Amino acid sequence: MSEVLYIPAIGEQLNSCWIRKLEFKGYDLKFFTEKSHFEHNIALQSCFYGVNGVGKRAKGTFRDMIGFPKDKIFFTDSAGFQLATFQIRGEICNIKPIDSLRWQEENADVGVNLDYPPTLGKVAEYKHFKWSLVESIKNFALFQKERKNYEMKMLNVLHGETLELMDEWYQAVKDFKFDGWAVGMKPPWDAMIQAMGFMYLYEKGEFEKDSTKWLHFFGTSGKHVVPTIVYAASKLNKRIKVSYDSSSYNIGSIYRTYYLPFDIGPHLSFGDKFSLNKEIEKLPCMCPVCSTIDDLSILNGKSIYAGVLISLHNMYQYIHYNNVLNELVKIKTKEHEEEDEAGRTIKVRNHFKSYLKKININEKTLISIDFIDFAMEHGLKTAIQKFHYALIPQELNRAEQKNIFSYNSSKTGKTTEQEQKEYFEQVEQKKIEEGKVVEVKEEKKPQGLDRWGI
Ligand SMILES: [Zn+2]
Repeated sequence: MSEVLYIPAIGEQLNSCWIRKLEFKGYDLKFFTEKSHFEHNIALQSCFYGVNGVGKRAKGTFRDMIGFPKDKIFFTDSAGFQLATFQIRGEICNIKPIDSLRWQEENADVGVNLDYPPTLGKVAEYKHFKWSLVESIKNFALFQKERKNYEMKMLNVLHGETLELMDEWYQAVKDFKFDGWAVGMKPPWDAMIQAMGFMYLYEKGEFEKDSTKWLHFFGTSGKHVVPTIVYAASKLNKRIKVSYDSSSYNIGSIYRTYYLPFDIGPHLSFGDKFSLNKEIEKLPCMCPVCSTIDDLSILNGKSIYAGVLISLHNMYQYIHYNNVLNELVKIKTKEHEEEDEAGRTIKVRNHFKSYLKKININEKTLISIDFIDFAMEHGLKTAIQKFHYALIPQELNRAEQKNIFSYNSSKTGKTTEQEQKEYFEQVEQKKIEEGKVVEVKEEKKPQGLDRWGI
């Protein structure tokens, strides 16, 4: 059973604080030193922001500049998203593929291959998928050949949102010699597609190979997808580390949005929107960050501290949620009683799913756990057929296809993305009407901080 690591992607506003050596009541506003509010053991930085962001003129490595300790894990992303975007626009990026490799080798404990994600724009066309694969293979070959730092783990990358596309990608990249996998299935918040990426590699026997030491899920950390990743990891030997990264906590710096623990629900707002919750006198949180804030006006002020403190509090909530799930997934054989939808008492064995239901998790997340169980017993192909209603349409007719996420399927007539969306919206709406869920409107996330630009 492997535990999952949540990796905060370092936001530029944090770098900006750190380079100026700002402190708040003696704390260094980091999350990995003795002077920090709390110490987390892992962080991510994208090569693109490492080279072009705050502190680009500083001497020495990026890691040294921010004082990231040797005994903690520094995870880097390759800047593939940005390189591909520049290339499509016909612009020149100041980072060449070899620069990405060298920058990662200088800084990282775990690095990622330079993949050109096939789902860059809103419309993912098949010809773009092919182009991305061809370009990625060139980069992977370069990384394999030119690599010098073998202390650093370097991950292979899997893309594809249908079984057929995954097959095409996997066959082309599987023989490269790397140390594990990163999966880039999109949309990153879709629990089913993440489960499918996991099951694909599982079925190919990748997790039985000694060479596979790490499995990473790109750019995702939402309440509704983390349980799926935690559940998937619980099926693996603990010698394989499993992780996911996200910059969503940074919403504190951009919008002053303050997350409450995930099982409570709606957010609080500070700054311009503080009037919505101005009656509160104390922060409803005892985390190490909030414990140092006795005056709420700090969070409403114009200084950089307001957003950074809220962001660090938000990050702590993600860490907390991740840790809770990592433990709960271990308790899943004990039988207990629970009420079913008709109010009858039934015996339930799966403690993990029962917990998720109580914190109002999406229907799709629960289905993704059944999907993993079923696929392990009956195979991925059969599972895809059984759970097709919850998956991105799988029938890939290249002649008809408009794009990966939305096309007219004359074969089934029932599995278009629109129909699925309506189905799940109805399920969630029903829960809201029945008072089981408090509706939370998604706010816009900070732009351009992680690999999806979201
Ligand atoms: Zn807090």
